[in-house]
Amino acid sequence: MKKFLLVIALVAVCAMVAQAGRTDISCSGTVTIRANNAAWVGGHGWSSGSGRTISWSASCNMCQFGPAIYGWGTNPLVEYYIGRGGGTRRGTYSTSKGTFTLYTNNCNGPNITGSGSFQQYNASGSGSSGQNMSQHNSGWNNLGRGTNMGGGYQIVAGENYGGGNGTFTASVSGANWGTVWWGSGSASISCGGGGGSTTTTSGGTTTTSGGGGSQKTITVRARGTSGQEQLRLRIDGNTIATWTLSTSMQNRTATTYNSGGINVQFTNDASGRDVQVDYLVVNGSTRQAEAQSYNTAVWQNSSCGGSYSEWMHCNGILGFGNTP
Ligand code: CA
Ligand code: CA
Repeated sequence: MKKFLLVIALVAVCAMVAQAGRTDISCSGTVTIRANNAAWVGGHGWSSGSGRTISWSASCNMCQFGPAIYGWGTNPLVEYYIGRGGGTRRGTYSTSKGTFTLYTNNCNGPNITGSGSFQQYNASGSGSSGQNMSQHNSGWNNLGRGTNMGGGYQIVAGENYGGGNGTFTASVSGANWGTVWWGSGSASISCGGGGGSTTTTSGGTTTTSGGGGSQKTITVRARGTSGQEQLRLRIDGNTIATWTLSTSMQNRTATTYNSGGINVQFTNDASGRDVQVDYLVVNGSTRQAEAQSYNTAVWQNSSCGGSYSEWMHCNGILGFGNTP
């Protein structure tokens, strides 16, 4: 049988997804991502990385990267890809999956802290299932690199840099979390099979089902002072949606079957970043932010934390009471 060698010129692009939206879900089953004319990156894994060994089954009909491992580390801030090259060659190292060559790029743009400079690591070698992340990080450390994998998420990802339509699925052993970022167009993420809730998202609207109880529709009206602020909607401690705010007041809506305490969390405070929350609406009932007594994020009396304010100046939580 004749064999064809397909040579793909991989262009390592920094911050390839100009972040227009991001949705995180809890999922221990199978994550499905559907892209509608979107540049996107997303997949199934963990909200906090580690040196774990990662095994999976996954497919993608439109990916320019993956399915393979993608993640973020901190100190230094690093975006990493296993199974692709591109950048400045730093040397080689070995893992149980064979020999890898590490390439790096200096990047500036959207990242897990908002926006700014970071390093991109591209580990060229086998991208297939069964990666030992501790061996990778040791290899990077021996080349004068390395990162704190616990500081960011770690997923079996697909990515499309240019924009397109299609479907990605991944089932990762032991994983409990999924995420998708998209730039142009829109992308949805859902969870099926196995434990966890089922969530679908399109264009910043999130629908979660399967958690039991009645369905609630929640709208949050908010803005950020810089346009980089990230706000999470949480119910009973579970993240239902993650939004990047704009500098003008906008309504963001999520639908969920989860029950418990409702709060919004400001997660990436930095110089020049503050969040103003006008109100939250649950099933048509409006709860003004300035009427809420629990706000750990407002700056009052020379410290973070107070009450009865629309403002979140610090990382923290504004509580809106319980679901109806
Ligand atoms: Ca208000
Ligand atoms: Ca601030």
